[in-house]
Amino acid sequence: MPPMRTLLRVLVVGAFAAGCASSRVPPAPPSIAPAAPQLFDFRADLWPNLHQLLFHEALLPREGFAGPKSLAHRSFAPMDALSPDEGAAWRAAVGYYGAHFTTHSMFTDEFMAATRGLTAAGSAPALPPDAGVAAEWRALLGPAGAVYRARFWPAHDATDRAYAEAMRPLVAAHGAWLASRLAAVYQTAWPTEPVLVEVTPVVAPFGAATLGEPPFVGVHAPLITISSNDPGYAGDSGLEMLFHEASHLLVDKVEGALDASAKRQGRTLPRGLWHFVIFYTAGHVTQERLGPSYLPYAERQEHHIFDGDAAALLPLLQRTWQPYLDGRTTLDAAIDAIVAGL
Ligand SMILES: [Zn+2]
Repeated sequence: MPPMRTLLRVLVVGAFAAGCASSRVPPAPPSIAPAAPQLFDFRADLWPNLHQLLFHEALLPREGFAGPKSLAHRSFAPMDALSPDEGAAWRAAVGYYGAHFTTHSMFTDEFMAATRGLTAAGSAPALPPDAGVAAEWRALLGPAGAVYRARFWPAHDATDRAYAEAMRPLVAAHGAWLASRLAAVYQTAWPTEPVLVEVTPVVAPFGAATLGEPPFVGVHAPLITISSNDPGYAGDSGLEMLFHEASHLLVDKVEGALDASAKRQGRTLPRGLWHFVIFYTAGHVTQERLGPSYLPYAERQEHHIFDGDAAALLPLLQRTWQPYLDGRTTLDAAIDAIVAGL
């Protein structure tokens, strides 16, 4: 029999190895230790699915209009499945989204209020009065909701749930590590309550979106909406992008520090510089966790993130931000170095 110390080491190494498996994690044995706090609450609900689906369908590419970046040429609501009456109700609702919203609407107050209100409505049989939408909009969502429930929702619900099931073991294996790493990088505490992740077939225009910021309560409550069909949000890439989305919740302090440093140094920041910092950071901490063969989302050419004017930002972040991720410099020094290098 091995000495107790060796036996413990074997057990600890075994547990660590299981925790590092990327996609196939065996069921955890019953544990008497307190459960780790739940990071995400995955849900799939009819009303937020309908909202995102109508938005996507309204944005599909047409003459003179590029459409969303995520799943750009794919309809998820084939009209040939519908009766004439159903088709009329559906087209009216898609038409409303087409007339009122563009790919830039995701973060307008009107769209965000609807995203929150319709998410809170869950899968209720009828749309509740406080769903965050104007009367004219609401009048179209009711009939479209009935069509959706009868025709497209069963398949979408199944795809969404399968997506959540596929993500759960990845989050179980790597989530606690990634959450504490990102909270340390952004020097901002992770939300204490599980972050609501609404899974829907499509999230125009990018495949996911996040609302919320500290203090993470009331109108600031975290809400991630993520696509169950976009391949960039599946598997290991999906793990990175889920934590990319969560990074939106944590980035305010770094965004403010970039602005303050630009002011001090008399520089103008490129638009959305903080978002490139999120892309770089989520990609590289995921690579740290999964190993060097993992290529960050933003550094895969097909995603066109560090393209055009942004191409120079990747080597800049490698030179100025990576040392901070490696613990070789402070946050303030790294921020100043980014700004000085622009
Ligand atoms: Zn983002």
